[in-house]
Amino acid sequence: MDWYKDFPVLIISDHLGGSNSLGRALDQIKTELEKLDVKVLGANTLEDGRITYFSRPDVGCVLLDWDLCEKTEKSRQKIERLSQEAKERNFKIPLYLLTSRLNVEQIPLTVDSLVHGYIWLSEDTPDFIAGRIMEAVEHYADHLMPPFFKTLVEYAEKFKYAWHTPGHTGGTAFLKSPVGRVLFNFYGENTLRSDLSISVPELGSLMEHSGVLGEAERNSAQAFGADQTYYVTNGTSTANKIILCGRVTPGDLVLVDRNCHKSMMHSLIMTRAVPVYLNPTRNYQGIIGPIPADEFSKASINKRIKDNPLTKGRKLADVKHAVVTNSTYDGVLYHTGQVKDGLKGCTAGLHFDEAWYAYACFHPIYDERYATFDHNGETDTPVLFASQSTHKLLAAFSQASMVHVKDRHVSDPKQKVDPARFNEAFMMHTSTSPQYSIIGSLDVATRMMQDGRGKVLIGDCISEAVAFRKKLYSVEKELAKKKDWFFTCWQPSKGKGKKDFGDTADHDLENQAKYWELDPAQGWHGFDGLSKGYAMLDPIKVTIVAPGINPDGSMAETGIPAALVASFLETDGVVPEKTNIYSFLMLFSMGVTRGKSGSLLAALFEFKRSYDANLPLEQVFPNLTRDYPERYLGMGLKDLADEMHQHYRARNMAKIVKKVYDTLPEPALTPAQAYDAVVRDQVDLLPLSELKGRVAAVMVVPYPPGIPIVMPGERFDAASSVIIDYLSMMEEFDGAFPGFESENHGVEVRRVDGQLRYHVYAVRE
Ligand SMILES: *Cc1c(COP(=O)(O)O)cnc(C)c1O
Repeated sequence: MDWYKDFPVLIISDHLGGSNSLGRALDQIKTELEKLDVKVLGANTLEDGRITYFSRPDVGCVLLDWDLCEKTEKSRQKIERLSQEAKERNFKIPLYLLTSRLNVEQIPLTVDSLVHGYIWLSEDTPDFIAGRIMEAVEHYADHLMPPFFKTLVEYAEKFKYAWHTPGHTGGTAFLKSPVGRVLFNFYGENTLRSDLSISVPELGSLMEHSGVLGEAERNSAQAFGADQTYYVTNGTSTANKIILCGRVTPGDLVLVDRNCHKSMMHSLIMTRAVPVYLNPTRNYQGIIGPIPADEFSKASINKRIKDNPLTKGRKLADVKHAVVTNSTYDGVLYHTGQVKDGLKGCTAGLHFDEAWYAYACFHPIYDERYATFDHNGETDTPVLFASQSTHKLLAAFSQASMVHVKDRHVSDPKQKVDPARFNEAFMMHTSTSPQYSIIGSLDVATRMMQDGRGKVLIGDCISEAVAFRKKLYSVEKELAKKKDWFFTCWQPSKGKGKKDFGDTADHDLENQAKYWELDPAQGWHGFDGLSKGYAMLDPIKVTIVAPGINPDGSMAETGIPAALVASFLETDGVVPEKTNIYSFLMLFSMGVTRGKSGSLLAALFEFKRSYDANLPLEQVFPNLTRDYPERYLGMGLKDLADEMHQHYRARNMAKIVKKVYDTLPEPALTPAQAYDAVVRDQVDLLPLSELKGRVAAVMVVPYPPGIPIVMPGERFDAASSVIIDYLSMMEEFDGAFPGFESENHGVEVRRVDGQLRYHVYAVRE
C-alpha cells in the first residue's frame, strides 16, 4: 500500500515561490515530489508554518528553512520552539533543516537533537532531495500504520475481486436489492469490504491473540501500561463479565462499589458470587463522590462481612476480587495508590472500571490516578484489572473496549494471571464472528495516542474545558455583581494558595492536579470522609449547576430543575451526558471543538433569556404544549421551573437524594438467587405501596443519579424506607409533569385507574 500518499510534506521557507536560486530549487523539489505522488504544503513564515502544522495532523514530513532564523536571535528562538513543539506533538515526525553546509555549525544542539537530517539546497540535486524526502515519508507512514489495521486494509485491497465470505461478500449481496443498495451507498464500499466475519489467517485470531491481532493487543498493552491487553468487541459490559468470570467462582466474596454499572450486577449473577458493597459518598447536589478512604481497610471490610447476613461466618480470605468505578460518573478520580495500599492483603484482584477514563495514561495530570499507573516502589500488589470503553472517550467504534491486566508487581508467581486460563473466560464471552472494524478501531485508537500525540490530544480537551469553565465563572461573577443569576460549574472555587479560580493561570489549571483536588479543607465539593490527595475532579468532566439548592443542602426559594435546562438544550442540539436534579454533566472529549463549547455557552444564555422573560412554553417547547395542551398551554418557562422547583422543595428532594443511599438495604438473597426467581417466574410485579418488607428481584436504578438504590436480593426494609419514598416522589413527579418523566431502570410503569404507577418485581415469598 502506498500509505505515504496520504501524508503531505510541509515546506516552511521564505524562498518558496521566489525567483532566486534557492526559490527555484525549492520549486523543483516540489515538482519532483508531486511526480512521486507526494503532496506538498507551503508556508512562507514560521508562524504560517506553525499554524499549518498544528491544523494538519496528516503532515508526514517537515522541511524547515534554517535561514529563516539567521536574522535575529528572536527568530532563532522561534525556530527552536517550533522544532520542539513539532516533536512534542509527534515525536516520530521526520523533521529536516534546509541549510547550507557552511551554516551547520551554528545550529544549536537543542535543534540538532530534534532533526532527522539536513538538506543542502544548493549542493544536492532536486530529484535526489525529493527521493530522500519521499523515503522518509514512506518510512514514517509505514511505521505509523498500526499492525492490525494496516493488514486489514491491505487485505481488503488485495481481495477486491476475489471475495468469499461473509454472506454479503464485500457488500455485493446488498447490490441485488433496492434497499440493499441504499445501505451499500450509505456505508460505502470499504466499510463492507473490510467487514470480515470469518477468521482470515493473515489477520491473526482474536481468540488466540495471534498474528497481527496479537501484535496489536501487545502494542496496546505497552501504550496503556499493562502487562496483557485483551480487545473486547462487545463493550465494557462484556469486559467486566470477562474479568469476573475469569477470577470468581460461586460463593466467593466480591467487594463491589455500590456506584457500579449494570454489567457488574450481571457479572455477579453469572458468577454466583456474593457481593459486599462499598458505599460512596453523595453531596447535596446528588453528585456521587468517592468511596471514603477508610472503607478500604481490613477493619471496615471485616465489619461489612460480619454485618451482612449472607456472609456471616465468612472470612476476609474469602474475598477474591474488588471492583471500583474510576472515574465516577461525575468525574471524580481516585488516587489508585491509596486504594491499593488500603486493600493490601484484602483481595487477590483489584479491578478499576475505567469505562469513562481510557485516556488517563496519556496525560500527566492523571498520574497516580488510574489502574495501570506505576506507583513508586510498589511491591506485593493485587492483580490489577482495568476495563475501558475505548469508544466512550477515545476514538473507536461503539462497543470497542479493552481489558488491561497488570501483574508485574504481584509477588507470588502463582497469583499472576495465566493468559491461557484467563483466556477461557475471554472466549466464553467473545463471538466467533467478531466485528473486524471494531478491532481495527481499537488498534487505531491506540496508535492515535502514541508517540506523544495522546498528551497533545488530551491536553487540548483539558484546555478547552478550562477555557469554558473560566468563561462561565467570569460571566457568573459579573452577573452576580448585578444581583443577577447564571449557571456555575461544580469545581474548586479557589485555587491552591487561596487564589481565586478565575485568577489562576490557565497553564497551571491545565497541567497540575493539585488545583482539582477534592481538598477535605474546602467545602465546594460537599463530600465528607475525604483525605488529603485522595480524590480529584477530572477537569474535562464539567458539571454545570443551576440554581435551586443552597450550599448547606437546603432548598433555595427559587430554582431551576436541571431536567428543564436539559430539555431546552436538547432542542438546540446540545445534549448533556447526564442530568441530576439541579445539575448536568457535559463531557469535553476529543470530539469537542471550540465552536462546540461556544455554542453550549450561547445555549445557556439563550435559556437564561427565555427563563427571565418567562417565554410561553408554546414557543419554547412546542411539542410539549402540542402533546399536553391542558397541562402546559398558557404557562411560561419560568412558571414551569417554579412549579417543578416547588414540587421538589415541598418534599425536600435534596435531603432525600443524599439520604437514599445512606443505609444499604439488608440483603436476603444473593443477586444470583434473586435472578433464579425471575427465570422461574417466582416473582410478583408490585406497586410501590406493596413493596415494604419484600425482596427486590431486580436492580432498581433511577436516572438521575444512575446508581442502584436496590440490588437484586435486597429487602425493602424499614431502615431503608426512604427508598420507597424516593421512588414515590419520582412517580408523583412523572404524574405531575408529563413529558419530563424520569428514567428508572428496573421499574415497570403501568397505568392504574388512569394514574401512572411504578411497579417493581419482588421475589415471591
Ligand atoms: C458504560 C459503562 C460500562 C459499559 O460499557 P459499554 O462499553 O457501554 O458496554 C461499564 N461500566 C461503566 C462504569 C460504564 O459507565
